[in-house]
Amino acid sequence: MSKDIKTVKLYVCPSCFAREIDKFLSYDEEAEEYYCRRCCYVGKVEDIEEFYAAYKKAKYKDMAKPYPSEKY
Ligand SMILES: [Zn+2]
Repeated sequence: MSKDIKTVKLYVCPSCFAREIDKFLSYDEEAEEYYCRRCCYVGKVEDIEEFYAAYKKAKYKDMAKPYPSEKY
């Protein structure tokens, strides 16, 4: 008998990540949500992806302006 094995992507908890702690989220298949065993973070894949997309964007923005802005 073959069983469908869904590959579950691993994510680091955004809430812990903000505190510089790398803690992987556990996945609740029934709720289809990720949750953190360390803090109370619960989120869907979209939430987590969104967090990291925003984080990368913010970081990129900083990198895009290495020099102080012009003085007025
Ligand atoms: Zn956490």
